[in-house]
Amino acid sequence: MDRPPLRRQAIRRILILLSFIAFPVTMNYFSPYLIVESAFQGIVNGSLIVFASMFVSSLVVGRLWCGWMCPAAGLQEPLVPVNGRRVGRRAGLVKWFIWVPWMGLVLLAVARAGGYTSFDPLYGTVAGISVAGDAHRPVIAAYAVYFIVVLLFFGVAMLLGRRGGCHALCWMAPFMIAGRSVRNLFAWPSLRLISHPPACTQCGTCTSVCPMSINVQAMVARGGMENIDCVLCGSCVDSCPNRVIRYSLSAGR
Ligand code: SF4
Ligand code: SF4
Repeated sequence: MDRPPLRRQAIRRILILLSFIAFPVTMNYFSPYLIVESAFQGIVNGSLIVFASMFVSSLVVGRLWCGWMCPAAGLQEPLVPVNGRRVGRRAGLVKWFIWVPWMGLVLLAVARAGGYTSFDPLYGTVAGISVAGDAHRPVIAAYAVYFIVVLLFFGVAMLLGRRGGCHALCWMAPFMIAGRSVRNLFAWPSLRLISHPPACTQCGTCTSVCPMSINVQAMVARGGMENIDCVLCGSCVDSCPNRVIRYSLSAGR
């Protein structure tokens, strides 16, 4: 995939910003709570469908969703000029302490319900809209949930640094990390980064622009571009003065 340099990043930033603006509508399709509530009733809800889609898509495009479509990215990336500290890898472990018991709870809930027996992708929304009220739920409650989620990601990003919420908090990232691990196991063709180390002048630009705090320069130096935190945003691809890094649809690990 050849690159029209900075225009691609401008498009990406607009996409994640639009996704964040749309979050009052889409929030419940990413809900870690509604998937549990609906599982107790044996209902396949919107967030289950979205999380399953994330896993399936990551088998081919890795964490492209996180780089190009995630509302939390649209919230956190504009905060990088305020706190651009690079986030350490240990912060990334925290989300697994959230994800593992949460997944256990979902499985337990489905088992108690006797399996999934019905399908309601709009479950927990009002005519498909997340932040809205109806006879059973005042709109203020929906707004409260919205602001809690936004403040949580805002606070963690301000505390930890670049996209801190993606590292420490995100309950969706593990689905895509798991999918990418499966892809790596079978090494089938998929979207990935590749590099041409001899052309690297070790200027460090790629590392400095990476919103996921990855030491991209080190990955180039060792000739392996796979990293569980990489969201395929292409910032390194588009900023390298020597065009060392490229997107590639190829097989590999
Ligand atoms: S931006 Fe390009 S030249 Fe600079 S360190 Fe990264 S890969 Fe090497
Ligand atoms: S390594 Fe490159 S593509 Fe991956 S997250 Fe960092 S800047 Fe984006």
